[in-house]
Amino acid sequence: CGIVGYIGNNDTKDVLLNGLEKLEYRGYDSAGIATLNPEGLHLFKVKGRIAALRDKVDVTVQSTMGIGHTRWATHGEPSEDNAHPHQSSTGRFTLVHNGVIENYYEVREQYLTDVELKSETDTEIVVQLIEVLYGQTNDVLVAFRQAMSILKGSYAIALIDQDNPDAIYVAKNKSPLLVGLGEGFNLVASDAMATLKETEKYLEIEDKEVVIVKREAVEIQKLDGTIVDRKPYVAEIDA
Ligand code: GLU
Repeated sequence: CGIVGYIGNNDTKDVLLNGLEKLEYRGYDSAGIATLNPEGLHLFKVKGRIAALRDKVDVTVQSTMGIGHTRWATHGEPSEDNAHPHQSSTGRFTLVHNGVIENYYEVREQYLTDVELKSETDTEIVVQLIEVLYGQTNDVLVAFRQAMSILKGSYAIALIDQDNPDAIYVAKNKSPLLVGLGEGFNLVASDAMATLKETEKYLEIEDKEVVIVKREAVEIQKLDGTIVDRKPYVAEIDA
């Protein structure tokens, strides 16, 4: 299982699909991508192989940002409905997640009794929680950090907001995740293998940090909003 994300100036489909193919060795049962452009959000999901996802993706849709996922099901059977990306009730927020949310039941009971869930996954709880917290705070980043403080368990998460095509929100706890840095674009991935074709420059992300990834900038914060200063490193991996 793995996640990948891209925000830049070129079309993102191939970067996402190639990245997911590079993550195949981690094992998976379903896959999906979501991309955002001025026409809106474009979501493609399949049960099965990345090759099947590639066939399903509409090649005429051009978007310069998006997220992708290979799933190894822990909560809910492998199916198209349970495949990521998952969306909040209004469709505004779309998210991919690797790991296991240990308190998903408690979160559902405490925050989501009014929300009609569309999947059986622990992951959908996260994107629905972000939407509920956004309703209270009116600030996506604050809602995202609050959600990450509430969640227990392991996660590598990437979130996109339909109302803001200029940022991918990322978070990590006990699941692998790094940010790849490029000229005019930035990437996120579970594993450097997924992005080596694009860049060799990476930022390490620590547990309980959130990252705001934009085309020309990357900002790391702690869950209380404190800004973290970290130098990138160059990966020495043979592709
Ligand atoms: N727990 C999540 C699910 O079952 C994510 C699994 C994964 O890491 O791929 O959908």
